[in-house]
Amino acid sequence: MRGRRVIMVAGSLNMDFAVHVKALPAPGETVTGSPYLVSPGGKGANQAVACARAGAAVKFVGCVGADAHGDTLQKALQADGIDTAHLRRVNAPTGAAFVTVAASGENAIVVSGGANHALDGSDLPELTGVTHLILQLESPLPAVCAFAQAAQDAGVHVTLNAAPAQALPDSLLHLVDLLVVNAGELAALGAAQTGLDLEGQLEALAGRGPRAIVVTLGEDGAACWSDGRVQRTAAFGVQAVDTTGAGDTFVGVLVASLPLMPLAAAVRRASAAAALSCTQPGAQLSMPFSPAIDRLAS
Ligand code: ATP
Repeated sequence: MRGRRVIMVAGSLNMDFAVHVKALPAPGETVTGSPYLVSPGGKGANQAVACARAGAAVKFVGCVGADAHGDTLQKALQADGIDTAHLRRVNAPTGAAFVTVAASGENAIVVSGGANHALDGSDLPELTGVTHLILQLESPLPAVCAFAQAAQDAGVHVTLNAAPAQALPDSLLHLVDLLVVNAGELAALGAAQTGLDLEGQLEALAGRGPRAIVVTLGEDGAACWSDGRVQRTAAFGVQAVDTTGAGDTFVGVLVASLPLMPLAAAVRRASAAAALSCTQPGAQLSMPFSPAIDRLAS
């Protein structure tokens, strides 16, 4: 049925500790920051929330510690109607991320993965009824590969957001229907070394397996490779105050939109959502809901 979408997101959850500074500190430098903001984050959890707010039914798979941060992160997912039946409590501290945001909107982030490292292939539940799976790389690579294989075997559409940046085996890329990367992540996959322009790099990367590729380019928008051609989408003009979570908003809304419209239109809707997320501080806190996304995208 057109429009049916049950999205499973498997990945990380972190408690984010964010502080605003005038400029990011140089190595060895100490700078004074604003009062800090504690808020739910982690690439997996962020993408799940973005998906749910864009109107999809979402199931989450991941690991937190048996601690107060784990409780808070679970409640944050549930508050957006996300099914957390497959969130596992483990004997390790819940993941945490230490985020520094400059006045320019630029950020620098240190992640302490903690419980996220416990995710393994056996955590993936039955995929009956699931139409799309979203994966990222804040989880152990063997688990990511096992989940992608199981989803492909079950005929579930696989999106891999290859973040944080790292090299990946072609055996994983071959299991991916849609690969989403930013410019740094594209370079980490070896695309820049080809000496080709962006179009050529995407073409070469597509030759390694993924059926479609979207590269996000910050305020320069996004480029999308599918069916042998590259299409550019401009970013929406907004007053950016904090770009934390823009990439996660983009991925979540992109996949939530895929069953409803062609890829290029889904990229435009994801760009609108990501732009809106840049206008407010925080990751999940700043993620927009369908009506606001569709007002900007239309
Ligand atoms: P982050 O790690 O900060 O969450 P990212 O590096 O994964 O982000 P970006 O390419 O910076 O991802 O941004 C994702 C999308 O967000 C872009 O493709 C664009 O649509 C939107 N975006 C980012 N920055 C801006 C901005 N300043 N103004 C409008 N849209 C933006």
